[in-house]
Amino acid sequence: MERIAVMTSGGDAPGMNACIRAVVRSAIYYGFKVFGVRRGYAGLIGGEIIPMELRSVSGIINLGGTILKTARCEEFRTKEGREKAIKVIKDNNIEGLVVIGGDGSFTAAGQLYEQYKIPIVGIPVTIDNDVCGTDYTVGFDTAINTALEAIDKIRDTAFSHERIFIIEVMGRKRGFLALEVGLASGSEIVLLPEVKYDLDVICESILHNREKGKTSYIIIMAEGAGNSFAIADQIKKCTGFEVKVSIIGYIQRGGSPTARSRKIASLFGIHAVQVLKDMQESSNPKIVGIREEKIIDYDLEYMLKNEKKIDKELYELAQILAI
Ligand code: ATP
Repeated sequence: MERIAVMTSGGDAPGMNACIRAVVRSAIYYGFKVFGVRRGYAGLIGGEIIPMELRSVSGIINLGGTILKTARCEEFRTKEGREKAIKVIKDNNIEGLVVIGGDGSFTAAGQLYEQYKIPIVGIPVTIDNDVCGTDYTVGFDTAINTALEAIDKIRDTAFSHERIFIIEVMGRKRGFLALEVGLASGSEIVLLPEVKYDLDVICESILHNREKGKTSYIIIMAEGAGNSFAIADQIKKCTGFEVKVSIIGYIQRGGSPTARSRKIASLFGIHAVQVLKDMQESSNPKIVGIREEKIIDYDLEYMLKNEKKIDKELYELAQILAI
């Protein structure tokens, strides 16, 4: 294998650039010619392949977003779309692929491999931390810290005005971010898509705690856990207290990566190239990850066949601290 390509796909996340840098630099170190695919799978279909040199990735370790751009691409979900991408791969003599993204991007990589056997390594980079097989994804730590900064500020108002705040964080399907943010912000209640909740019980506890002197409340909610405005109305109706909603939104996806996000991005990037280097033409696609603070790699198939579970123990511990 002499020529490899790297791409970013799906939602952007802080640390994507640090990953690109690590992949390009280590690939050159190991003697590869390395190319960047712009705009994810859309760029792969469209032939947006650019050469990457050592200096192409200078000064980007601290930048959010991705210098290669990213995209969501419906065409890649079709066999015909993937056929076009395969032609681009062949025309450019690309012999190995590093895909930086989330579970959707890796599912796509699996589909590509089904149609055309090429060594592929995935690097999990998403603020959702929803990739099965790795304890953490690149970008998760930064998103937690960004959300915390906002929540700490909202807490000032909640405390001063003795209000209940529902703060919505990202997570349409999964609540990993909401759970960590809930714990780290010391919020009173965390609502996750994976855990059933009873609003009557929540209202009772708000009323009970008010009697005990708790006059402000922070409820952290994953966006997929329900409609925050409808929940606010219900709590207001039931308790008589004012409830405000604050949606943190896209700021969670951007910004300079934290030290931890940069570190695992760098280690994942190097490891991905080392794994790719040892792969044969028909080797099964791999994903790099971190388990118990050790950098590891595993079959993409494992991610496809399993679902990452929410840490129920952590959820219960957060509840103990919220009384
Ligand atoms: P994040 O969850 O952080 O946004 P992601 O990688 O999961 O990242 P997706 O939008 O789910 O983001 O997937 C990225 C792209 O991968 C899609 O736009 C599409 O081109 C491709 N893709 C996703 N799922 C499939 C699939 N089942 N088959 C083929 N291609 C897919």
